[in-house]
Amino acid sequence: MTASNLVKLKPGDTIGILGGGQLGRMLAMAAARLGLRSQVFSPDPDSPAFDVVQRATCAEYADVEALELFANDVDVVTYEFENVPAATAMVLAARRPVLPAYKILETTQDRLIEKDFISKLGIGTADYADVSSVATLRTAIERIGLPAVIKTRRFGYDGKGQAIIRQGDDIAQVWDDLGTKSAILEAFVPFEREISVIAARSASGEVECFDVTENEHRDHILKISRAPAAIPEALAAQARAIAEKIAAALDYVGVLAVELFVVPGNGKATVLVNEIAPRVHNSGHWTLDGASISQFEQHIRAIAGWPLGKPVRHGDVTMTNLIGDDILSYEQWLTVPGATVHLYGKGTPRPGRKMGHVTEVTPASRSSTEAR
Ligand code: AMP
Repeated sequence: MTASNLVKLKPGDTIGILGGGQLGRMLAMAAARLGLRSQVFSPDPDSPAFDVVQRATCAEYADVEALELFANDVDVVTYEFENVPAATAMVLAARRPVLPAYKILETTQDRLIEKDFISKLGIGTADYADVSSVATLRTAIERIGLPAVIKTRRFGYDGKGQAIIRQGDDIAQVWDDLGTKSAILEAFVPFEREISVIAARSASGEVECFDVTENEHRDHILKISRAPAAIPEALAAQARAIAEKIAAALDYVGVLAVELFVVPGNGKATVLVNEIAPRVHNSGHWTLDGASISQFEQHIRAIAGWPLGKPVRHGDVTMTNLIGDDILSYEQWLTVPGATVHLYGKGTPRPGRKMGHVTEVTPASRSSTEAR
């Protein structure tokens, strides 16, 4: 048993949250409902999560003194983003349990290490290759074929740091444009749909998965999630089993998201893992209004050492992200019957910036066990 397995918070205890975006904000709100306090650490004075907590630390992630003071004030540390610097996590982990364990970030911060990890578990991914120069890129293209997707190994999100390579493209130019020396090339997956599994794992190894969610992206950014995904139950069960296997292999504590592609086969679709997010995830926001327990509450329960909940879905759920200028129509959304509106309190609606989301729940027309 590790120190982190011994975490057992009681109401009134304090959770330290690294990162002050909307995920940190919604985690803090879920913690408050359970009688727990949160202290948010973020370098950005305009952090949306600061608005919902009484205690906040506004400092750089490299500020060791601020990290030490923060650690002294909290009982357990968690994070809302996967790019927590290793040095930051180490300073905190020397003083307080950090959950999920920060070693996990070494796997999920690097697309190559992550893909190797998934493949070694016997779980399918797109064909991929390590690419570190224009020469290795050409060799990788010979093996994998085109179209293909090139991605930076680190710091990619919402389609940033990636490009599709098609027949006839100038390969040297593509490599120059990517602007890195460490990348992976992935076969382009002709997916039928994209799905995700939001899973929670407790320190004692119990896992609870939410119903598999179907995700629609616009300009590489999640726009709409629907639960349950319109896929056969056997496939949904396979997706959940994959998430459970990944969580167990990482000895994970908290909520994680596994994003998958559904690939049509000879009359039988299969799934391939795209990526793992070691945190609460945008495609799980529907659980706030669409299920008896949200992904945020599950995460808090898991890291507090409390029993996980058994989430019950309230119906067919659609979550729509309000991105950039979408936020300007918030008053219209407020008048939609049955819609629940979440605004993150962010200032300027820049293009691609997630400003809020809306959940709509309708009576269940199908259970997750039904195929459409
Ligand atoms: P990612 O940053 O890896 O989550 O990729 C963002 C989006 O790009 C995914 O949600 C897919 O829509 C698309 N994408 C990523 N990798 C591939 C791939 N190998 N084949 C086809 N589409 C992809």
